[in-house]
Amino acid sequence: MSAGAHMLPQIRAANVGPLAAKHSTFAALAMALDALEIARPASWTHAFVIRRCAACTQIQVIKDDVYECAVCGATLAPRG
Ligand SMILES: [Zn+2]
Repeated sequence: MSAGAHMLPQIRAANVGPLAAKHSTFAALAMALDALEIARPASWTHAFVIRRCAACTQIQVIKDDVYECAVCGATLAPRG
């Protein structure tokens, strides 16, 4: 990377089950950034796991691998 070039230190993605950012999504993003000569990490730097509760429709960020709705207590779908 040349001096003064642009650098993207982090790239984040959210996993929302069927709408999850798939590995191929990162590949497409990486190709675009490479074409623009923007330095980037080798993969997603932060990936959040998000689920919509089937019972109450609230969107939940999964923490500590606990797949339970914080609003109504329903079990959330495991990894999508
Ligand atoms: Zn719920």
